Amino acid sequence: MYGIETEDIRTLDALLESGRTVTVTAHTHPDGDALGSVSALVAYLRERRGKDAVAVLSDSPAATVRFIVPDSVPLLCHDTEPEACLARIAASDLVILLDANGFSRTESLQDAFGASPAPKVLIDHHVGPDRDRFRVVFSTPDVSSASELLYYVLLELPDIGGDPARLPADTARALLTGMTTDTNNFANSVYPGTFRMAADLIAAGVDRDAVLSDLYNRYRENRVRVMGYLQHEILRITPEGLAYIIATRDILDRFDVAEGETEGLVNIPLSIDRVKMSIFLKQEQDHFRVSIRSKKGWSARECAFVHFHGGGHENASGGKLWWPADIPGPEAAAAYLEQVSRACLS
Ligand code: 5GP
Ligand code: MN
Repeated sequence: MYGIETEDIRTLDALLESGRTVTVTAHTHPDGDALGSVSALVAYLRERRGKDAVAVLSDSPAATVRFIVPDSVPLLCHDTEPEACLARIAASDLVILLDANGFSRTESLQDAFGASPAPKVLIDHHVGPDRDRFRVVFSTPDVSSASELLYYVLLELPDIGGDPARLPADTARALLTGMTTDTNNFANSVYPGTFRMAADLIAAGVDRDAVLSDLYNRYRENRVRVMGYLQHEILRITPEGLAYIIATRDILDRFDVAEGETEGLVNIPLSIDRVKMSIFLKQEQDHFRVSIRSKKGWSARECAFVHFHGGGHENASGGKLWWPADIPGPEAAAAYLEQVSRACLS
């Protein structure tokens, strides 16, 4: 079901054996799955294979998910250390991309990765992998997360030999954490293998209670207050069943919202019976960041692709809405969404 070919495992194992300076990366604005899978792999490469493995990301992790990267995992971010990131990529003899279907999703780092002559490996769960750019591709959308796919790839490697207890503790914990965030704590995209992975990792010693506490019980108070305000005052529902929330700059400033503090809000309106799709807009300098979730039968991915320059998974996707290219200005977003509602849901 994971489409993990023995031949590809052999090639991956050989690349890991010969590589010395390994750079592991993921998509921009890294979420729990991106950070979990990257951290898990770097910890494995350092502890089990003795590699100089480093995580390189385009953006620094939000404070809410920074804990996922353990102290044992060196991390360079392009927004804070651009020169160090570019030098590291240029010096790498192996590059591994996780939780993204191509280097375009690394945005500010895509040219640097594109210029690197090192062999590349892809381990991802989005549709449409950019296969031509990679020596080996592990890719299937029929899995909860990049963390889950990476787990089953690692199990196939000869030194792990199918025994989760041989994974470094930091790897096991990061894998469970990444999978937990992408499934919204076992609510979406869960497969039999997802539960098997969780059972195996808990049996191998991962403290799931601690993972849940770190993920869900350590926010600042203002997250709960802004989420309440946005649901009570700002949420709109169209006649077609699109729920949308527009978090404008003035609201974000008023509640002192930091990166990551509105994570998960987009899911909440889907609990309303007549809502088929939910869109959350968060204002940036010259665009809105767009998060889309849909119920079965309606495609968040197509909506992101057609209306927001984006993509993702069938029922969880994202993109951007620019001004003045897409709309005259931020105040025109609501009218645009009403139009999207008619186009996507009627
Ligand atoms: P979120 O709403 O959590 O930010 O993103 C949900 C999913 O949508 C991500 O896991 C990713 O697959 C996809 N996604 C989010 N933003 C973008 C984007 O700008 N471009 C593309 N292609 N996919 C995105
Ligand atoms: Mn993911």
